[in-house]
Amino acid sequence: MRIVMKFGGVSVKDGKNILHCANLVKKFSEGNEIVVVVSAMSGVTDSLIKAANKCCSEPSAGYIKMFIAEMMKKHYEAIEYAVRNEEVKAKVISATERLLDELEKVLLGISYLGELTRRSEDYIVSFGERLLAPIFSATLLSIGVDSVALTGGDAGILTDKNYGRAKPIPGVYNTIKSRLEPLLTIKKTVPVVTGFIGATDDGNITTLGRGGSDFTATILAAALDADEVWLWKEVDGIMTCDPKYVPNAKVIPEISYQEAMELSHFGAKILHPRALEPVMRKNIPVRIKNTFNPDSPGTVIGSRTEETTDIVKALSLITNAGIVNVSGAGFDFAEIMSEVFRRLADEKVNVIMVAQSSSELNLSIVVDSRDLDKAYKTLKKLENGNIKVDKLLDIAVISAVGSGMAGTPGVAGKIFSALGRNKINVIMISQSCSEFNVSFVVDNKDGVSAVRVVHDEFKLGD
Ligand code: ASP
Ligand code: MG
Repeated sequence: MRIVMKFGGVSVKDGKNILHCANLVKKFSEGNEIVVVVSAMSGVTDSLIKAANKCCSEPSAGYIKMFIAEMMKKHYEAIEYAVRNEEVKAKVISATERLLDELEKVLLGISYLGELTRRSEDYIVSFGERLLAPIFSATLLSIGVDSVALTGGDAGILTDKNYGRAKPIPGVYNTIKSRLEPLLTIKKTVPVVTGFIGATDDGNITTLGRGGSDFTATILAAALDADEVWLWKEVDGIMTCDPKYVPNAKVIPEISYQEAMELSHFGAKILHPRALEPVMRKNIPVRIKNTFNPDSPGTVIGSRTEETTDIVKALSLITNAGIVNVSGAGFDFAEIMSEVFRRLADEKVNVIMVAQSSSELNLSIVVDSRDLDKAYKTLKKLENGNIKVDKLLDIAVISAVGSGMAGTPGVAGKIFSALGRNKINVIMISQSCSEFNVSFVVDNKDGVSAVRVVHDEFKLGD
């Protein structure tokens, strides 16, 4: 089999875990062709973003020195534990030093300029993945698995110039195939590719959006016609609900692409929102597996399960969201709608859900708490005698997902009567024509009980 495997987050939080993951690659590399994708060590991307912004707003050479020393310590400790061969270790240490040197210079540059563009921010955050890929690859070498480290750009992931949220450009699959296929078939080595990052055709580093390593893995899989993608996580698979909210939540053995996409959109933190696009078209299954329980089958995401009849398969809950409400009368409805969404897109606001009544305009837009102020500010500017904009804080969004909902009468009725029986007030409701999900908003304080009520109602924990 040809498998693209991605490791990220806690799975690569320190040297011990990195060595553990490398041993998993070794175990599965017998008889299979493996491409590894790694994200940054856990916490590193966030701290790089913080450092970049801090260097821009409050430049301080002392801070940069301290930050670089911290990064050095984290990565050196990982190398010290994971890389079990002195010669390989010496090489990867000098590669790490070179990268950290480069990072220090970039941060100094930002603090001199006092300006951080999206392009330079992408360049800075790319160091997380660029540091870990050589370490992971060296770990493989040191346990006897031939390997080579590549950046996303080296691997052929060429993107547009939409820094921060770049997309692969047309024709990219051929480039990737021509660069990676020979490594698999002729050199018989395990490429370790940096997740999350690509490059423009003139060589600048771009990123694919937060959590983008999943997307890297599926892009590579589609380009290489892989048999499967394995996303290694720290959980046994996709669950009927986050067990933090619903203690009797269960692992879902099979889920369709569409259902998994709906769940990720509604904050289920399973996958990068675009990650399934490349594999869907080629029908490549994606398996979610647990690094710390590797023999458990996990969850398979794939079209084989498109036929499932589960009415409600899983629930997601987003807490602490907000609503911006645009209301009024006496203007062109479609025009205001398009202006509202153009402004939200310009501000890169993540819109979770929309509901509208059109007799007179009343448009309710649910956004992440992080984006609420941005959304409110930009829409507030539309206010005039006819239009009024206000906001509502502290709400929770619950989404019930299942492809069997389409055409099954009474699903919404069942959800809302269960909520009614439990005296939970529903603030807003939305269901799209795809009928793969029903979403609703409740007061934040009712969020957890609402999700538990619906989980019980559909017997998802049994
Ligand atoms: N390191 C990147 C992030 O934290 C990409 C990823 O984790 O997939 O967003
Ligand atoms: Mg990360």
